[in-house]
Amino acid sequence: MDFNHQSGSRPSSPPQSGGRGPGGRRPRRRSRFEHHAPRHAPRPGPGRPAPRRGEAGGSAPRETRRLVRQTGEHKRGERLERRGMSRSRSMPIPPPAHDTVRIIPLGGVEEIGRNMSLIEFRDDIIVVDAGVQFRDDDTPGIDYILPNASYLEERKDKIRAVLITHGHLDHIGGIPYILDKIGNPPIYSRLLTTVMIKKRQEEFPHVPPLDIRVVEKEESITLGELKVRFFSVTHTIPDSMGIIIETPYGAIVHTGDLKLDHLDGVPSEKEEKEYTIFKNMNVLLLMSDSTNVERPGFSIPEPLVHQNIEQIIKNVPSRLIIGTFASQLERIIKIIEICERYNKKVVVEGRSMKTNVEIVRQLGLLKTHPGTLISAPEMAEFPPDRVVVLATGAQGDEFAALMRMANKTNKFFKITNRDTILLSSSIIPGNERAVQKLKDNLSRQGAAIIHYQVADVHASGHANREETIWIQNRINPKFFIPIHGYHYMLRVHAAIAEARGMRPQNVVIPDNGMVIEIERGEKIVVRREQAPSSVILVDGFSIGDTQEVVLRDRQMLAEEGMFVIIASVNPKTGKLRKSPDIVSRGFVYLRESQELLGQTRLIIKKTIEDATEHMRPINFDYIRGAVTDAVGRFLFQKTNKRPMVIPVLIGV
Ligand SMILES: [Zn+2]
Repeated sequence: MDFNHQSGSRPSSPPQSGGRGPGGRRPRRRSRFEHHAPRHAPRPGPGRPAPRRGEAGGSAPRETRRLVRQTGEHKRGERLERRGMSRSRSMPIPPPAHDTVRIIPLGGVEEIGRNMSLIEFRDDIIVVDAGVQFRDDDTPGIDYILPNASYLEERKDKIRAVLITHGHLDHIGGIPYILDKIGNPPIYSRLLTTVMIKKRQEEFPHVPPLDIRVVEKEESITLGELKVRFFSVTHTIPDSMGIIIETPYGAIVHTGDLKLDHLDGVPSEKEEKEYTIFKNMNVLLLMSDSTNVERPGFSIPEPLVHQNIEQIIKNVPSRLIIGTFASQLERIIKIIEICERYNKKVVVEGRSMKTNVEIVRQLGLLKTHPGTLISAPEMAEFPPDRVVVLATGAQGDEFAALMRMANKTNKFFKITNRDTILLSSSIIPGNERAVQKLKDNLSRQGAAIIHYQVADVHASGHANREETIWIQNRINPKFFIPIHGYHYMLRVHAAIAEARGMRPQNVVIPDNGMVIEIERGEKIVVRREQAPSSVILVDGFSIGDTQEVVLRDRQMLAEEGMFVIIASVNPKTGKLRKSPDIVSRGFVYLRESQELLGQTRLIIKKTIEDATEHMRPINFDYIRGAVTDAVGRFLFQKTNKRPMVIPVLIGV
């Protein structure tokens, strides 16, 4: 991925349900935590299966799911994948056989982000990347989501190295949380990536120091029995690399994130040269980036973006404010160089942007004259048309520099009708409303806005369809596992591989935790056992997968509201002293729901008095549970909503 997306950026309240008639079926988004149905809400009844994440509509009940694929038992001509396949989560996983290479994607194949995979052969495990994912609608209030590294924790002694493909957070962000737990194995990466890892580690002073080793693309290293080489790939950050792991059965190639450097669909000489490394290589397996494979043709070349930005910098007659991702380091370097060429001063705003610019300056990847970069207060010393501001927050992030300018809470920046704002970024799905608000607020203050939908001022760092085909043709693998993307993207990527002639049974569309094995270099199979893959969440200072209850509550409160019942019960007779009080928030507008409330009160009264009839002494915990269940079930029948029901029983 090519963005540094600060947490806390997205409007957090999911839209309220609407447009659903009485008895109509509401498509409910259920979280990945659903398998522990909350006690205080009725389970979905028969005929109303809760759709799982990533599945359209309902799924077959667990017990009727057919075991579609097991080790070595697939029909010819069929791709290996999970179609309602029930895999065993608890079964211990034996070590791979002597002639078997095992591959497990631990993250990044059911989502964008938290990329991490492992390759295991005999006594050696090599890990590739350790990323984070930013929170999504299923994880309200969470900072990060991590891959589940339990499989590695249990096999620390076999881990020879963690190889990092590039410096984006969805590849390095998990390091401070995971490395210590898996025995702090050495990390290998290219120079810029290692500096970014070290910089981030400064924010985690309590974790043991990392063992970081710099490798460059010409080098090869030996890890246990395996020899590893690297190759350079084009992405949006310098020093991005792909990895080649040599096994006795052929090479395993992991591309990391990549696109091609090309002009009008013709890859550059540099790119052609880089890929000659594969010319006579026996490639057993390719694992590659699926993020943009559904986009046709070739991606917009970054040099074209640079040219367009250059024209804007050159011609804008006023101050120019450029909003982009701090992770788009190649572009940031280019923009500062262009500014210097046109004698403009550059102000860098936003913490992640400042950090990254500092890193590339230290490494000599950005060479500027002293005085080109100025601070915000120094802006006043120059005419506005000599000032360019580079700012974070093009995604409408609440606390980032651009949003603070838009909200007039940045004391050095006052947007006027003489300002031009260039949003050199795309909109990450889910941020549409935040970006719209950003544009509105900036435009209300009179600024002119240029964005990627009106000019080619942004290019993604991931290969489009035709680039993917070119890459596959050069690498020409025997087996293929698409990685980095949502399931749908992986599926499109698999179809591309098959369209260029790969046999479907040589392709595996993975899920997180899927244990994939290549036997004797001849056959690829999916084992029945599964590596732990439940998500690990970082919520403030706490890390773990024990947050499910908290998350479920947050989701329920956000989506369905809460329903509090206060009932006074005579502990001697079990009768209610008076009609129960009801307080609700975010559920239904009580004043317009008197009938519903009346019926609910009757149900509460009946539930309590029926239960207590022969109960002496009265077990208040039991009654509380009975009221929760009865009211929850009733409200769901009547409203198709599952508010959090909280009964408060007072024995007086
Ligand atoms: Zn990336």
